[in-house]
Formats: sequence, C-alpha cells, structure tokens
Amino acid sequence: MSSTTADYIVVGGGLAGCVIASRLSQSEKKPSVILVEAGPDPSGKPNTDTILNGLSLLGGELDHAFQSAPVPTTANRQHFLPAGKVLGGGSILNFGGWLRADVADYDAWGEAVGDRSWSYEGLKPWLDKVESHLGAATISSDPNRIYPLRNAVKTAWDELGSQPAEEAKGSISGIVEVKENTQNGLRQPSYAAYPLERVTVMTNTVVHRVNFSGKQATGILLVDGREITAQKEVIITAGAYRTPQVLLLSGIGPPDVLSSHGIPVVQPSLGVGKNLFDHFAIYLAFRLRDPSKGYALGSSAFNNPSFFKGLPYDWAVSEQLPAEKLDKVESGGAFHNRNLYEVLVVYVPPGIPGIPVDGTHIATSTMLLLPTSRGTVTIKSTDPNDQPEIQPNYLATELDREVIAHAARRTLDALLGTEALKPIVEGETPPSGEGLEGLKPLTVDVSDSDLHERILKTGMQHHHSGGTAAMGSVVDVDGKVKGVERLRVADGSVLPVPLGGHPQATLYAVAEKLADAILEQL
Ligand SMILES: Cc1cc2nc3c(=O)[nH]c(=O)nc-3n(C[C@H](O)[C@H](O)[C@H](O)COP(=O)(O)OP(=O)(O)OC[C@H]3O[C@@H](n4cnc5c(N)ncnc54)[C@H](O)[C@@H]3O)c2cc1C
Repeated sequence: MSSTTADYIVVGGGLAGCVIASRLSQSEKKPSVILVEAGPDPSGKPNTDTILNGLSLLGGELDHAFQSAPVPTTANRQHFLPAGKVLGGGSILNFGGWLRADVADYDAWGEAVGDRSWSYEGLKPWLDKVESHLGAATISSDPNRIYPLRNAVKTAWDELGSQPAEEAKGSISGIVEVKENTQNGLRQPSYAAYPLERVTVMTNTVVHRVNFSGKQATGILLVDGREITAQKEVIITAGAYRTPQVLLLSGIGPPDVLSSHGIPVVQPSLGVGKNLFDHFAIYLAFRLRDPSKGYALGSSAFNNPSFFKGLPYDWAVSEQLPAEKLDKVESGGAFHNRNLYEVLVVYVPPGIPGIPVDGTHIATSTMLLLPTSRGTVTIKSTDPNDQPEIQPNYLATELDREVIAHAARRTLDALLGTEALKPIVEGETPPSGEGLEGLKPLTVDVSDSDLHERILKTGMQHHHSGGTAAMGSVVDVDGKVKGVERLRVADGSVLPVPLGGHPQATLYAVAEKLADAILEQL
C-alpha cells in the first residue's frame, strides 16, 4: 500500500463496507477507493468456507468478541457479542439466513425519518436488486436438501393457525420458507460478491479516527500513526459497536462524553452510541423421542451431504400479539398488527450450554423483532483498540418482557402441544452449567415465574445489533453525518428503528442505496 490519498476512504471492510467500496470503485468515473479493515483477509483461513464450519469461528481471531457490561435486567449477566473482525465482517461469521423485514417495519422507518425512499416502497427495488445479485434462495430450492422434519414442523404451525405470509405484498406475518445467502453450499462473503479489484484494500489495519479541518472531514488517522487523505469523502462502516467508537474518537458525540476523555469536540451529536437495539432471543433444546430416526444433526442417520450446506432449518414464523394483550402493556397500543417475534425450529442445538450435538435434540430460536428497550455504546478510553463500553439494556421494558414470554409459550405450544410434533418431541431439556443449576424443564403449562426465570438466566441477543448512529438523529437520509461535511455512515448503525426479519438482507440494500447516493454527487 503506497497511496496515502484516495477519493473515498471506507472505514471497516465488513458486510456494508465491501459493498460501498466495490460500487464506488466500479462506477463510470472510476474514483480511487481505499478500504481499511481491522481484521485479516480470510482467504484460505480454516472454517470460513461454509456456514456450519463458521460456528467454530465465534470467539476466535476473526471475531471482535465484544463483551457487554453486566445487564441488570438479565440477572446481571455479561453477554457475549460476536462481530466479524475480518474482511467481509459479519458476512464471514453469520449464519446465512436471508429474511426481509415486514412492509410495516420499513414504512415505520420511512415515517421516522420523514422520507418515503426508506419506506417499503422505496427500499423494495434495492432489496430486489441485492437478492438477484446474490441469488438468495430458499433452502428447499436444493432438491436434495429436504430435511426430515420439514413437513412435521410446517404442520405443527398449521395446527396453531399460522398462515403463509403474503410475501408478494411485503408481509412476513405468518410462516415463510427461510432463504439463505450461500452459493452451492458455500458462504458468500460480501467481499467476494462485490469485487474489490479496483479498491486498495488494507487489512489488519485499525482506524483510530477521522481527521478534520474545521467541520470538513479530510481523511483518517490509523493506529500506527499513518494518515490517509480523502479527496472527496470518508464513509464509516465499522459496525454498530465500533462505528460510534470511531465517531466519538473523532470528536463527534455527546460533549460530556468527549470532554471526559479529553477529546476536542468537532460536532456535538447527542445520538452517537444511543438507541442500540438487538433481537433479544431465548434458545430452547427439545429432546427427540427416537434419535435413531436421524432428525437432527449429530445423528449418524442425518447423513445426506446436502443437509450440511447450511444451518438445518426450513421455516420462520413471525407473529403479532393479540390487541387485548398489547393494550394492557405500556406502549403496547403502538404495536397493533406488527410482527413482534419470530420463531425458528432448527435441527441442531448449537451452543446451548450442556446440550450435546449428537442427534438427540433439535432447538428453537424465539426472538423479539421490534424491541422497545434501548442500550448504549460509548468509549472506555481513547485507545481505539479497547473494546467500547456496551450496555444493551435488554428487556428493560414491560412490553419486551411480555412479548418474549408470549413468544416462548407459543414456541412450547408448537413443539410440545401439537399432534404433528408430540410423537416426535419428548420434552424440553434445560441448559446446564454454571449459574444454570436447578432450572426446571419447560412445559406448555409452565408457570409465569419459571418462564421468567428461564428468560432472565438464559436469554441472549441474536447478533443483530443496530441503531447507534441513527438516521434522523446522527446522520441524514443520505447517511451524511449531521453538522459536518464529507463524512457518512453506511452500516447497521444507521437503522433508526428495529426491523423484523434478519438484518443482512436489509443492510445489503442499505449499502447499495447509500453507494448510489454518494455516486450521485460524484
Ligand atoms: C454470529 C453471527 C450470526 C449472524 N447471523 C445472521 C443471519 O443468519 N442472517 C442475517 O441476516 N444476519 C446475521 N448476522 C448479522 C449480520 O451479519 C450483521 O448485521 C452485519 O454483518 C452487519 O454489517 P455491518 O456492515 O454493519 O458491520 P460488520 O459486518 O460487522 O462490519 C464492520 C467491519 O468494520 C471493521 N472495523 C471495526 N472497527 C474498525 C476500525 N476502527 N478500523 C478498521 N476496521 C474496523 C470490523 O472488523 C468489521 O469487519 C449475524 C451476525 C453474527 C455476528
């Protein structure tokens, strides 16, 4: 790397950063682009090839492996927060699930920022574009990848009255087939799907901060002291935990935070690091009556090679809460007709403490889609290599606690109370290990207090953080950081509100849309 100047500098070569850098570099005017990534190039690194192998990357050298502050509302537990530290970012660690948010979620975004281009109608062309670019497809579109429990799980949800979602109308309400971002069973990272041959990529390089001349961003300072000049713009795509850190270290944020660390204020911005949200979830393991049938990964009879092309599951069920239940809870009235939680039935129980992956168990993921709790990200020090201070504040609102409890009961009904799954599933097996002693198995008539205890002691996030440099507050509708010039944010941090589905579909679309906005000004 010899250039110390480029038209555009992209800070963070993760999911969104690679899309932005690629699109800018390939535009007609061929601007010069430097992409700076804290982690390494994963080419040739073990276990970066498939989704299932990728499970072993969590907590390793390609993971920032953030740790939250103790969360009072989850029994003071510190939560493990994985995030890719590698070219491709989350697209190297993630589970590949490709699920759009609901039409109402995107419309709420458009309304929150007063711009219809961020509503469903405005985002749909970008979602369509990334889906055809990446070729995201349903799991069963591979005729060999028909999991043995596919029909039984669908029938269980049918029994509970779940209807197919009207996906053509943008709805996720009901049951949908999960899509996946893979190609022939291989992970499709952002840096491969969006070519970087015209981009100068600097890996293993941490950005310290953005440099300014007055209110104008002029380039970046690296941790090793080198500086790079941007002729046009700096675009920050360092992810929902590190983007606010880079902004704060650059002098953009709440003045009291900046002054307490001796950082000169470039631009007061109260929203930096506020508004953190994630899809809080509870994972449950269900014991199979006859493991020899080969229903779950780990069984010797679960041996079709196509079953290992991705996470083994089929369906995502997104549901609303009955209006009378919502109306009893503070702020619940605002969420009539919104899909507030999602349930996945997965034919493997990965990472549930004490539950073996030996074909004896399947699992469920039950997650809040539109949490109303908000957390914070701030800095512990002025050292860019330090982890930021993350307080996720999960389950801080009554509504979130009500929704997750309702959703967990619904999950138990599907797995333990339906004619389709009763002959297959014997019961729920509680996780075990330190701090989990004495948990009782959950049943369809579990008491409120036992259910609450389980959620408190075992609930965790779903790796879907966002909101920490929110559109409308920190950035405008084109991702431009308010109050300064030539600086944008273009990653998961800009989401102003939580969205249903899983984030990657939306974030690829956001990156495409914001790259287009940048190019309009080239
Ligand atoms: C374990 C896991 C499973 C997931 N599963 C799914 C799933 O199945 N479906 C789905 O839709 N989503 C999933 N996600 C979420 C999805 O991958 C993320 O939402 C997405 O990657 C966020 O994109 P981003 O561009 O905002 O940030 P990231 O992809 O995290 O990229 C940020 C990049 O910036 C780099 N960086 C940070 N600070 C600096 C710095 N100072 N200098 C230089 N570089 C820096 C980081 O190293 C990283 O590469 C999962 C995430 C994880 C972690």
